[in-house]
Amino acid sequence: MKIESRLAQIGSVQEPKTGAVSFPIHNATAFRHPRLGQSTGFDYSRSSSPTRAVLEAAAAELECGDAGFACSSGMAALQTVFALFSQGDHLLVSLDLYGGTYRLLERVMSRFGVTATYVDTNDLDALESHCRENTKAVLIETPTNPLMMITDVAKVSEWAKRKGCMVIVDNTLLTPFFFRPIEHGADIVIHSASKYLGGHNDVLAGLIVSKGEQLSRDIAFLHNSIGAVLGPQDSWLLMRGMKTLALRMERHQENALKIAAWLKERDDVEEVYYPGLPHHPGYDIQQRQTSGNTGIFSFKMKDARMIEPILRHIKLIAFAESLGGVESLMTYPAVQTHADIPEDIRRAVGVDDRLLRYSVGIEHADDLIADLAQAIEAASREIGGASA
Ligand SMILES: *Cc1c(COP(=O)(O)O)cnc(C)c1O
Repeated sequence: MKIESRLAQIGSVQEPKTGAVSFPIHNATAFRHPRLGQSTGFDYSRSSSPTRAVLEAAAAELECGDAGFACSSGMAALQTVFALFSQGDHLLVSLDLYGGTYRLLERVMSRFGVTATYVDTNDLDALESHCRENTKAVLIETPTNPLMMITDVAKVSEWAKRKGCMVIVDNTLLTPFFFRPIEHGADIVIHSASKYLGGHNDVLAGLIVSKGEQLSRDIAFLHNSIGAVLGPQDSWLLMRGMKTLALRMERHQENALKIAAWLKERDDVEEVYYPGLPHHPGYDIQQRQTSGNTGIFSFKMKDARMIEPILRHIKLIAFAESLGGVESLMTYPAVQTHADIPEDIRRAVGVDDRLLRYSVGIEHADDLIADLAQAIEAASREIGGASA
């Protein structure tokens, strides 16, 4: 069955008793045992809960994995996966990483003796030269955010298998609609489902999907032991959002491509970072390994003085953090999402004070372009320059 059909039908056919096409929200935390030594499959809701179980099965199927785990946030999903590692273990991690993941590694996991080195994960020489005896995994974001660096997951997975390293991919930006990393050799996929999967900026959630029996058992143990699990109401809300994922991703992509191309032509814009544009260095890999592009991109203005007035003048596009919802949001990575990354590292990778990140919503592209145009022109007038 095609992914569009599977998405639309999440939870629709799994309740034979009533036939409800929307799976019920089971709030129970405790479940009766039929007899001593017997279980309905549900005992206590931290370990397993009916509404969450439907979501977890759907996540595993969509990502082509063996098991799915729903967590209370994307960070909870990352923390649960990081608990696979022990004191002395080392990870190779994508440069230009999500700020929260960097913070979790550097300020929490480091205290437990788990260390990380940040490299361009698409560069096998860099991976090879930073790989140590105690390196246990490669953690990849592709595209990264905000600079949209692309990693060839099949190539890195092949290298990692030879090294005995696990491959973990944060697939938040592409979603299984456009990319399924397990099909390219990854062992674990992580999502901040608060973004495209939920899709409406109204549910905080994380997902883990694993490939392999032992690994799935290990993560199930950690998921239950740590207990950062997703509640039944949010599980339902997430499934309801995921039903329209295909439609939303197609529109996000279409809008992002139009607006990125429009910005690229402007004289006051220095660079547009979007892997859907042919000039992007990761374009070929992206075309090969995914069936589409995310709805977010970044762009760098020539003049840093334009940033503050642009953010003040946008009207339809909201100045707000987060990404992946139906509403357009624009953020300033240097002071918001990436504030926890030290300035020298930020600048070295290119997240400087002229960069804006735009999570393109599903509004009409013409309205979004008109809003950006008026904000850029107003900003240009304020700084006294000529508008392009
Ligand atoms: C938002 C985000 C996270 C963290 O997820 P939360 O749901 O906010 O905890 C992790 N990775 C990426 C790529 C993200 O965008």
